[in-house]
Amino acid sequence: MDVSQSIVLHNEAQEHIVGGVNSPSRAYKGVGGGTPIYMKRGSGPYFWDVDDNKYIDYLAAYGPIITGHAHPYITKAIQTAAENGVLFGTPTELENTFAKMLKQAIPSLEKVRFVNSGTEAVMTTIRVARAYTGREKIIKFAGCYHGHSDIVLVQAGSGPSTLGNPDSAGVTVGTAKEVITVPFNDISAYEEALAIWGDQVAAVLVEPIVGNFGIVEPKEQFLAEVNRLTHEAGALVIYDEVITAFRFTYGSAQQLYGIEPDLTALGKVIGGGLPIGAYGGRIDIMEQVAPLGPAYQAGTMAGNPLSMSSGIACLELLQNPDVYQKLDQLGAQLEKGILTAAQAHGIEVTVNRLKGALTVYFTNKNIENFADAQETDSEKFGQFFHLMLSKGINLAPSKYEAWFLTITHSEQDIEQTIQAASYAFKKMAE
Ligand code: PLP
Repeated sequence: MDVSQSIVLHNEAQEHIVGGVNSPSRAYKGVGGGTPIYMKRGSGPYFWDVDDNKYIDYLAAYGPIITGHAHPYITKAIQTAAENGVLFGTPTELENTFAKMLKQAIPSLEKVRFVNSGTEAVMTTIRVARAYTGREKIIKFAGCYHGHSDIVLVQAGSGPSTLGNPDSAGVTVGTAKEVITVPFNDISAYEEALAIWGDQVAAVLVEPIVGNFGIVEPKEQFLAEVNRLTHEAGALVIYDEVITAFRFTYGSAQQLYGIEPDLTALGKVIGGGLPIGAYGGRIDIMEQVAPLGPAYQAGTMAGNPLSMSSGIACLELLQNPDVYQKLDQLGAQLEKGILTAAQAHGIEVTVNRLKGALTVYFTNKNIENFADAQETDSEKFGQFFHLMLSKGINLAPSKYEAWFLTITHSEQDIEQTIQAASYAFKKMAE
């Protein structure tokens, strides 16, 4: 496969853009290096790169592109919005329409507020929870990514009784001390952390279905117990549904499990591919937010007509009852094909799948938490990634990410992907 134009562009990018990329994982560091492919066009499940190679895409821009690239209905909505002016700085009816749609789809959102990214949404839920409870500490689960605000860029300490360490230069030790990290799916570790810090904890931050060390579902009762213990401690439960909302059902993971958090952060899919975030929850908590309450949050671009129109159009497409069934069917076909191909070539893999999202781990073990995911074979994943890319399959460049299906993938696309995987496994076994 000739990728010479991507190489030229990446050399140029490195002169002007730090690391050549505007988000670190795009630099292929997680797959042993290589030149990132520069895409120039997307349509449905496909990409074309600057050398005119065609790819079937499973990155879906790290989740948002559930309706496929350049969906005509969303494109039209964006065009219409653009013709009417892209940014007003005043309220618009679009914001009301979209807020009502989100509230209807996710009943725990009694009030919402739009922001511009998942990072902003999560960051603000933390501020609001602190304002409401008058407490400062936050509990999070190891390996879960909640955006890049300081407070969530904190690693686990060495056990539930220790506070965190900064995970990035520039995050202060003081900030890290506000965060306690415990293993996902381990309710006793969570209980232990609350026993020590419970009366200082403002909130626990939960990805109800993990998307950031691959797709990992909560064990039975885990979310219910987290809710019970957190509320007993007088703290709030925040669901980070930036990946999960509208990915698995029309609504959010909280509906799949029948459990309601106090606050929810949203992003990705709800923007139909445009920049967006939103947060919401119980009225009495949300009324902490300015202009009603003392917790400040604002945004020049927040609720802009383009993102609102794109998001509304995207959710309208997802209201079709066939959507999630189709994603599930295609996901099942892909999972089965990959497992069969891997077995045929003696490659050990574990596939975690929920409907149209899955992760292929190079291991023979079950993956229930971050430590499990860390132990999977990174080198093999890197090899697999590059072999798939050479066969025109665009995956996320990290063993910790998910493959996301779109409503535009077809059975033939999945078949072609399985054939590519079979080729990759064969090569890996040589
Ligand atoms: N929360 C989760 C669960 C995410 O996966 C991400 C991004 O990957 C974020 C928050 C941050 O969202 P954004 O990249 O839009 O700031």
